[in-house]
Amino acid sequence: MIDVARARRETPGCQYVTHLNNAGSSLPPQPVLDAVVGHLELEARVGGYEAHEQNEPAIERFYGAAAKLLGAHPEEIAFASSATRAWDMAFYGFPFERGDRILTAVAEYISNYIAYIQVAERAGVEVVPVPNDEYGQVSVDSLRQLVDERVKLIAITHVPTNGGLVNPAAEIGAVAREAGIPYLLDACQSVGQLPVDVEEIGCDVLSATGRKYLRGPRGTGFLYVRSSLLGRLEPPFLDMRAADWVEPDRYELRPDAIRFEEWEQAYAAKVGLSTAIDYALGWGLESIWQRVAALGESLRARLGDIEGVTVRDLGAVRCGIVTFTVDGVGASELKERLAREAINVTASPRSSTLLDSRARALPDLVRASVHYYNTDEELDRLVESVRIAALC
Ligand SMILES: *Cc1c(COP(=O)(O)O)cnc(C)c1O
Repeated sequence: MIDVARARRETPGCQYVTHLNNAGSSLPPQPVLDAVVGHLELEARVGGYEAHEQNEPAIERFYGAAAKLLGAHPEEIAFASSATRAWDMAFYGFPFERGDRILTAVAEYISNYIAYIQVAERAGVEVVPVPNDEYGQVSVDSLRQLVDERVKLIAITHVPTNGGLVNPAAEIGAVAREAGIPYLLDACQSVGQLPVDVEEIGCDVLSATGRKYLRGPRGTGFLYVRSSLLGRLEPPFLDMRAADWVEPDRYELRPDAIRFEEWEQAYAAKVGLSTAIDYALGWGLESIWQRVAALGESLRARLGDIEGVTVRDLGAVRCGIVTFTVDGVGASELKERLAREAINVTASPRSSTLLDSRARALPDLVRASVHYYNTDEELDRLVESVRIAALC
């Protein structure tokens, strides 16, 4: 059970806003704020490099914390400035050749898909979205049928950006393992929201962000690469952190996942991210997930009862991301109206998941994403405001 009163006491933003944009960027808790500001202050007092040295243990703790969160080893973790950059560093490291296939999901994320198109054009790779099943999630049966010797990567978004759907990541992992195909999971919306364990899921690469359900600072993300795959992925960019310059004409890549990192990093943000991971682990991901899923279901039910409101979420398992439309009121317009009442939601544009939006003929959606620190009273406020908007 989550002590919601404590969670709110430890979240300064709760005094000011009803924050239902946790899938965009969550409200950080006080310990995260203290860690970030504390490191910036140290940099200002003693110098940036000197602050790094003094705060080294806190900075290095990031690898152990992220590994614990994902059930991985610290050497399999790389820090990045975003989930997208983390994902890119692994994706562009695969040696694709003409005729290779990438299997992906219908509700795949915009930035991933742009990268698929680029690689398809450059390397002659074919990108094949796996059809959905009757719940709107990736069909594991269709995936199994599509697997053959041409498939060089299975790349799936765990929780899409545009709704409550949770894809069956572990069932997909079982198919990938059986076929011996590398499996890249975009876990940007799931990490921090629900338990994500790389062994249970069976993914080989995973990307996540700091600012969403983990409640870390903006400008942070991280990558997991299974140790058995590390040596086979060539990072698309290298620098003096990723490799040692050992002879005038030769460098040696680091053996661990730090080969995917940049030398320069936002250390204040990195310390903040470690703190956010520790903080999430302190609550427990199972407890967080139970509360988030329950709040999500409750919000869906209440919105669905309002005439003129259509809830758009798919999935056999549904999470804390709730998307809906209101007849006669555009998503951006409703978002602006709610903002005037200090209720934060976002408008999820069709283009963020173009295949899914086209397949379902979706307009832009209103996205309200709950976290464990949200309350029933906050959901009431949203529901009341939406009810009024739907009347006009
Ligand atoms: C937000 C999001 C991303 C991108 O995360 P960044 O940290 O902004 O790069 C990737 N995938 C999904 C599903 C997302 O929702």
